[in-house]
Amino acid sequence: MISSPIDEIKNRLDIVEVISSYIKLQKAGANFRAVCPFHSEKKPSLFVSPTRQIWHCFGCGQGGDIFRFVMQIEGVEFGDALRILAQKAGIELKRQDPKLKTERNRLYEICELTCRFFEKQLAASSVGQEAEKYLLGRGINKESLKKWRVGYAPAVWQGLSDFLNSRGYQKGEIEKAGLGLTSEKGSFYDRFRGRIIFPIFDLNSQVIGFGGRVFKEKDKKEIAKYVNTPQTMLYDKGKLLYGLDKSKVAIRKNDACIMVEGYVDAIMAFQSGTENVVATSGTALTPFQLKILKRYSSNLLTAFDMDVAGDSATKRGIELAQAQGFNIKIITMDQGQDPADLILESPEAWQQKIVEAKSILQFYFENTFSRFDAGTPEGKRDISKIILPVIKRIPNVIERAHWIQELAKRLGVKEEVVEEGLKNVNGAYHEVASAEPAGEPEPIKIIPRKQLLEETVAALVVNNPENTLELINQDCLCWFSPHIQTIFTDLKKGKKIEEDDFIKYLYLKAEVEGEGIDCKNEVQLCLRGIEMIDTKSRLDSISQEIKKAETEKELERVQNLTREFNKLANKLVVKE
Ligand SMILES: [Zn+2]
Repeated sequence: MISSPIDEIKNRLDIVEVISSYIKLQKAGANFRAVCPFHSEKKPSLFVSPTRQIWHCFGCGQGGDIFRFVMQIEGVEFGDALRILAQKAGIELKRQDPKLKTERNRLYEICELTCRFFEKQLAASSVGQEAEKYLLGRGINKESLKKWRVGYAPAVWQGLSDFLNSRGYQKGEIEKAGLGLTSEKGSFYDRFRGRIIFPIFDLNSQVIGFGGRVFKEKDKKEIAKYVNTPQTMLYDKGKLLYGLDKSKVAIRKNDACIMVEGYVDAIMAFQSGTENVVATSGTALTPFQLKILKRYSSNLLTAFDMDVAGDSATKRGIELAQAQGFNIKIITMDQGQDPADLILESPEAWQQKIVEAKSILQFYFENTFSRFDAGTPEGKRDISKIILPVIKRIPNVIERAHWIQELAKRLGVKEEVVEEGLKNVNGAYHEVASAEPAGEPEPIKIIPRKQLLEETVAALVVNNPENTLELINQDCLCWFSPHIQTIFTDLKKGKKIEEDDFIKYLYLKAEVEGEGIDCKNEVQLCLRGIEMIDTKSRLDSISQEIKKAETEKELERVQNLTREFNKLANKLVVKE
């Protein structure tokens, strides 16, 4: 029998091994447990069952098989999780029929081929070697060049496009990939020429664009320093963070993301062991990027050149992040120094800077008070003009109150005055994300109490029917979801129940929650709880009906319903 690649992958990979490559697992009886990476908690409530090859978090209710886990932790869709796990399992997925290839797929191919072309140029051509020497001089080692697939675009008009043509790609496609342009006179030429090339990857490490940088001193004066892929079907700079494909797991592990500005900064940071880093490539943070980052952590550390008094794109991006509830710390760099320089000079000093990062409010206070004289009325005005909007954007009221106090104290005015001043500031950000990031993991579900009780009963009964099945009589059967009802009916008929994902989950739940408890007693307690919830919801709907009958002036119905209501309510009181 030929098995599907999904089954084949599940056969070859052990869930414990896969999950422990992302998070730390501890042995807990027959299972393993861990602190859940998908909701914030201190006590571990995520369990992994090696016998059933499933995982489940009893805190946030998420769970499933290895595919589900990889989708969640990598923030990718099923197809990508399949690819990642196929690679781990050493299984080759069947190639798609070329005729079925979409335009998108062809653009991916063009980008991948282009990336290889540039990599080859860096390694083989003489100018490429010069470029490599320059990069090594900046401190990037050969291993990093390979990892980040840095390349070189030759200084000719049609180097890449000729190569792509020879591989069967047309001008139109090359242009759509953002790699070629047509001049006014109609001649076609390469966008990237005579530059060091940094490929840009999507979350699955597929090349989707490029950033080109000049490196020769004379070029730096004569031509544009930066050339980047324009917006294409694959590449949108407002949705991308450079390096996130490589750093996302470390960001989740450290629960913090360090943001730098340039590609070289990110590569050098990574090389020095700071793996939770992304680069913004000098553009302001967009709501979209922030939303993607939130999947991994809501703690941001920035190592930007920040001017608190000016109105820079960088500052606006940080303010937006602050307003969206990110905790922001500022790594202060010396004037004119960027992380890459500092790391080259001293990796220890870079580490120290990270440790010493200041909260955004601390940073604003120190920076502003050192710049203006808080002793003069003008100084007070200038300081408050800068700091009030930052305070206004603090989402948490207690934290905001703290900084209001602090500002009042340092300016030597009453708190009420600062509060008055805050009212006149429009600081709150109302900008909302315009589009949802693709493949956004489902938000954490809040599981209703009734469902929790139902599942506990089902778990205990499935695991231990001899003791507990008799408690499920005809009256209480109707409280359960149809799926659980079927399970109970099958058990009562003595039918063997099929071990599907839900049943596997129930067994794991019974193992985790049922240890050392009196099953029978627990089932009785849960049934009682369900009955209460059920009764309360019936009371609710009766009282709705009573209201309706009252407005419709149907007195007899009102009376009947009230009688019914009292009878039910009595039941609640007597038992309670
Ligand atoms: Zn969880």
